[in-house]
Amino acid sequence: MLGAMQDWDLRVTRIIDHAAREHGGREIVSRWADGSETVTTWAGVRLDALKMTQALRNLGVQPGERIATLAMNHARHLVSWYGAVGVGGVLHTVNPRLFDDQLEYIANHADDQVLLYDAAFQPLVDRMKPKWTTIKHYICFDNGEFETWIGAENGDTEWATGGERDPCMLCYTSGTTGNPKGVLYEHRSTMLHAITSVQPAIFDLDARSVMLPVVPMFHAASWGLPWGGAAAGIKFVFSAVNDAKVLCDLMNREKVTHSAGVPTVWLAMFQHMDAENVTLPTLRQAIIGGSAAPRFMIERLMKAGVNVAHAWGMTETSPIGTTGAKCWNWDDLSFDEQVEVKLMQGRVPFGVELRIIDLDDPNKVLPRDGKTSGALQVRGPWVIKRYFKAEADATDDEQWFDTGDVAILYPDGTLQLTDRTKDVIKSGGEWISSVELENAAMSHPAVAEAAAIGIYHPRWDERPILVVVRKADCEVCSDEIKTHLAASVAKWWLPDAVEFVDEIPHGGTGKVSKKDLREQFRDYKLPD
Ligand code: AMP
Repeated sequence: MLGAMQDWDLRVTRIIDHAAREHGGREIVSRWADGSETVTTWAGVRLDALKMTQALRNLGVQPGERIATLAMNHARHLVSWYGAVGVGGVLHTVNPRLFDDQLEYIANHADDQVLLYDAAFQPLVDRMKPKWTTIKHYICFDNGEFETWIGAENGDTEWATGGERDPCMLCYTSGTTGNPKGVLYEHRSTMLHAITSVQPAIFDLDARSVMLPVVPMFHAASWGLPWGGAAAGIKFVFSAVNDAKVLCDLMNREKVTHSAGVPTVWLAMFQHMDAENVTLPTLRQAIIGGSAAPRFMIERLMKAGVNVAHAWGMTETSPIGTTGAKCWNWDDLSFDEQVEVKLMQGRVPFGVELRIIDLDDPNKVLPRDGKTSGALQVRGPWVIKRYFKAEADATDDEQWFDTGDVAILYPDGTLQLTDRTKDVIKSGGEWISSVELENAAMSHPAVAEAAAIGIYHPRWDERPILVVVRKADCEVCSDEIKTHLAASVAKWWLPDAVEFVDEIPHGGTGKVSKKDLREQFRDYKLPD
């Protein structure tokens, strides 16, 4: 027997219909690479997306085909998300910071048919065109081409119909080894994720919110904000450049209440704010994820009255896994205790399940005791089952995805990430958390950035070294850093050496690239 409720498929085009109908006049501001600005609304985004749907049909694009974007954050990119899914296509957001061989691989692997791109990436497009074998149509967002293309249509059409398990979006994630892998989101998974993302304990979005997402639309679907933001009818402020001054100016002028970005984004903002004596008085929610938010960052934002949503997630989890949701006794905690809570990665919303298993024995599920660390696994309706084009196999049914993260779970469900399985340092048979060493080092006032890696040691297997970038005009020596670390980590965790560098390598999403750092220190000899 079936239930007797209405058929209302969870298709993401419903989100933009809702935004245009219920929040049609809410503004979307775009600051372009050339410094100019435009303003549209949710109703305008929907109309343009319908026009793009017509224009894609005229190009012969069929449901299920991939439509790629290579672009920063702006309203036309947002339009293209809804236009691509509107035709029943699969939106593929390409990360322009990837290497050429990765760019070649993913566009061909995805079988992209159309590429919409920013003029700033014209040299990249020209370079890659001979290698991209499937793309038939190239349309530039910001040289008039996109507007002429959709401007030829009237928007008088219907969205493609289909099932809620149809795919709607494809994001590639570059692992530490091998080619990038595609994560193929569905309409249903994206809708459930969007509905979840706006909750107070997650991103806390409603019609009064003014959000400037610094996290690019090509990084883990901009954490789902273009979908969730439309569901809540928020005002978006987009910047096509990630310059701290531009961002701070926009935030203050547009009275931005919410922002989202990886920790390095906030570091750059703080440096600008300190140099120019700027504050962000309207900001009340900072979503930080992608890598661990250091203590001083959390403290500084909290002291300024900003709620820190320290979130953990992955491209493979759409990406919401956990956020720094407040615990039931939050109001009874001291400031320092609250900071301790926010330093961890928080708790899951309804819809995500976590467990940890033994690093050496995958059949052994470990307790949630706040002490034991293990390999983190996740499951839920917006968690990947298998990578794009991967063959179905027996493990699909197990429904637990191996995150590659190492974590501790507390009895109340709080998640504390301690490392990546590939980054954790094994010394004398025991694990040293590179993340904890880094966090401890980053709390030193003269340290701008720090990364710990394991170096081969004949007796201990591996020993940690710490690679440090000093803050401008700051002096600090190796012993001073070690003394500072000794206050918060076990003695045998102390790095065998501290190396100072001008820069630590970052990958395509702005995170420290341990792979490149290890390569840089491949022939490194530990001091005796
Ligand atoms: P990506 O798919 O590029 O977003 O990378 C996902 C990975 O980033 C996770 O598996 C974690 O290793 C790391 N990560 C994400 N959020 C956090 C966080 N809040 N703290 C520490 N690591 C994080």
